[in-house]
Amino acid sequence: MKTLIRILKYVILPLVVLVIIVLWYISIGFNKLEFKDDFPESRDYTSYYPESYTLARENFHALSQSAAQMFENVKVFQIEVPSDSDPNLTVDICYIPAQEDSLNLLILSSGVHGVEGYVGHAVQWFFADYYLDPSLVQNTGVLLIHAVNPHGFKYTRRVTENNVDLNRNSPSTDDLFATKNPGYVQVFDLINPQKKVRRSSLENRFFFVKAINEIRKASLPVLRQAVLQGQYEFPRGLYFGGNQPEPQIDSLKPLVAQLAQPYNKVKLIDLHTGYGERGRLHFFPNPMEDEQKQRLEALYDGFVIDWGDSDDFYTVTGDFAGFVGHVIGEKEYYPMLFEYGTLNSQTTMGSLKSIHIMILENQGHQHGFASQKDSIRVKNDLMEMYNPSSENWRNYIMDQTREVFDIILPRFIEN
Ligand SMILES: [Zn+2]
Repeated sequence: MKTLIRILKYVILPLVVLVIIVLWYISIGFNKLEFKDDFPESRDYTSYYPESYTLARENFHALSQSAAQMFENVKVFQIEVPSDSDPNLTVDICYIPAQEDSLNLLILSSGVHGVEGYVGHAVQWFFADYYLDPSLVQNTGVLLIHAVNPHGFKYTRRVTENNVDLNRNSPSTDDLFATKNPGYVQVFDLINPQKKVRRSSLENRFFFVKAINEIRKASLPVLRQAVLQGQYEFPRGLYFGGNQPEPQIDSLKPLVAQLAQPYNKVKLIDLHTGYGERGRLHFFPNPMEDEQKQRLEALYDGFVIDWGDSDDFYTVTGDFAGFVGHVIGEKEYYPMLFEYGTLNSQTTMGSLKSIHIMILENQGHQHGFASQKDSIRVKNDLMEMYNPSSENWRNYIMDQTREVFDIILPRFIEN
């Protein structure tokens, strides 16, 4: 009996205390969203980053006007996005046709995931400022699509007013909305809690323990795929792809088809943030056939493309790049996602942190917050995940963008 008590006192009890301390320590790290960025110093690009959707749109209009003064036959379009609460939401489009030979069309799209539109806008503006010149547009048309999801951009959500993720909602097949995702049902409870958000609850503080338990049952790639692939059954759930195309997707279809019509080759860069290593520009296409893959690799030669052979890869259905490819018909097509990493989602902890932020944001939207503090904190975390406030981050990712454009734009023109 005495030995038993001794074991309890000197071994088991300290062990339990140690485990609690370690978990508590990890939970503090897990729930904190601060990074000491020390990326190499670069030029100052911070003025390209907008303060709000409204200001971004004003800038985009100014950009379109100056393009119209510089080049012939520039066209601007505005797609009104219907809303129950806000009559002033638009997708804005500026089209600069190739001035001599209609060989290439370069499409640069932003804000498919609303809140990612901040960085997307900055990159579009930077592009127009640095690269939109007569030598580029001689044989290359440029189509800038701004804020594909304006409601999400304006109200700090990734999804539309209908809770739809546009990168799961853009059909390139007839049966998209009948897609079943059986893995999603298994993780439904983990990612869609049916109650108000209380940020400091034990279950949130130790979210990673619960999630790691789920990972133990499946595996992180399986879990990630189940969650991120998209689903078409739960309209209030995370990663909902809708039951039909959202109005702006329907409107973009004939417009993009018509504008792309004269060109032989179409090169798309769809701008995103949030996934991947913090401060790094990832090239992140959906899987494609070998021939197209080789062409894309040649165009981006010298850069590492995330082809999906790594463990942290996932594929989606209903993605915008695939939709554009479908809409333009039989052309040489070079679809690419630029993804600017923010939370190190290539690591297990970063990945869980990203999913946790998404869960809390959607949960709060659907079921409310326990306090205003919870609401502010969750919105702030979402904003930091998709539009980091760090100037060092902002400058560093734009510097990489410049390097990429410097190298690939001449290739765009050449072939
Ligand atoms: Zn995105």
